[in-house]
Amino acid sequence: MSRMRKVSLAFASLVVVLGNASCSVTPSPRSGASASEPTPSPTAAPTPDAMAPTLVSQQPAAGGELDASGIRVSFSEPVHGVDAASFQLSSEVGVIDSVVSLDPSGRTATLVPQATLPFATTYTVTLTGLVDDLAGNQLVRTNWTVSTTNRVSFAPGTYTGYRFGDSPSHLTALKRSTLGSLSTATGSAWQTIGDAGYLLVDAGIWAGYWVHGERDGTARDDLTASIPALPACDYVDLPANRVGYGQWGTTVLDTVFQLPDGYTPPDLVDTSHAGLNGSYFIRAIAQKDLAAMITAAGTAGAHLAVQSAYRSYAGQVLTFDGWVRQSGYTQALRVSARPGHSEHQLGTAIDFKTVGGIAPWRYADWATSTEGAWLAANAWKFGWLMSYPKGSSALTCYSYEPWHYRYVGRTTAAAVHAAGTTLREWLWAQGYGVR
Ligand SMILES: [Zn+2]
Repeated sequence: MSRMRKVSLAFASLVVVLGNASCSVTPSPRSGASASEPTPSPTAAPTPDAMAPTLVSQQPAAGGELDASGIRVSFSEPVHGVDAASFQLSSEVGVIDSVVSLDPSGRTATLVPQATLPFATTYTVTLTGLVDDLAGNQLVRTNWTVSTTNRVSFAPGTYTGYRFGDSPSHLTALKRSTLGSLSTATGSAWQTIGDAGYLLVDAGIWAGYWVHGERDGTARDDLTASIPALPACDYVDLPANRVGYGQWGTTVLDTVFQLPDGYTPPDLVDTSHAGLNGSYFIRAIAQKDLAAMITAAGTAGAHLAVQSAYRSYAGQVLTFDGWVRQSGYTQALRVSARPGHSEHQLGTAIDFKTVGGIAPWRYADWATSTEGAWLAANAWKFGWLMSYPKGSSALTCYSYEPWHYRYVGRTTAAAVHAAGTTLREWLWAQGYGVR
């Protein structure tokens, strides 16, 4: 008897708990004479349909992630009026075409967008007062924001990263990597340029790069992509690739690619150590071949001196400004590099002149002088290349400079000489601009 009584009490308390829980999620007046509901006045019985329907759940909720399965909501009581006019998904551009449905109970509704929603985009979900209960009480207009995925997914494969320049359509390949395993990274934008879609990656090795991809966040494998064409000589500032101090021979620098302002080679030595006039600096890695070249030139009767060598970023600011004052901005761009874009900042470039002579650019063509002619014919044998040869401005981005040589080492210099191209073309063709 005692045991039976305990069981029945336990059952009774379970019913009470269930009853309360039920009331708390369905505050509809139709649930009747529950003592927990407020009574408007002691004399008037509650009107069954005095309460407006409310939103009980939203999936995804505010700030949640929206996927292709759409948005699901439930109401506190059966409603009608749920359709594409009262339940909407919209972006800055406008309302997204969607299929809206209400289940037979009238208490849950679903909105499924009909288009593939772009990556990392925020939308507003709106439910309006056109939704009402069976007595005509309107839902209070409600809206909240949801976003599509911001994860870029990479399958194993080869990807190319791009940077955009000042003009939205200016695109330059900079980095290429092969991924050996599945990975993801966060991203924040998607856009189309031409026929291709691009995802902007915010983290990991691709941070700051755009990669080919789909609007759902899937990066596209570029396995068959070839090295893109040499970039046009636009005046933009994209960070140069291969800016390690050990990569001095393969850094692509032009009017597009730029060294960081803090790039200062660690091993600068005075040019007097190579048998030249001093108080100019070059990197120690170039000194031995420079000395050998100067000795060979002197033996051949070509007496070379330094006009200019290493220039810091700050030094290049002064140099470029000087050309602007002298010739105007447009002409300065042709004959001088903007700060960060100069090979002189690498510490491996020298502007030569004739010993005792005037500045080489004051000659009609310094390459016709004994010194200029000797360098043009022989410098490559010592690892030095004329960066801006005659007739190649469209490829090198600068006017002909028969005095400006860059040290790239004997192996590279011989390869470029054999290829018969400019250094910029050769470095780009090797893929040094994109890896
Ligand atoms: Zn120079």
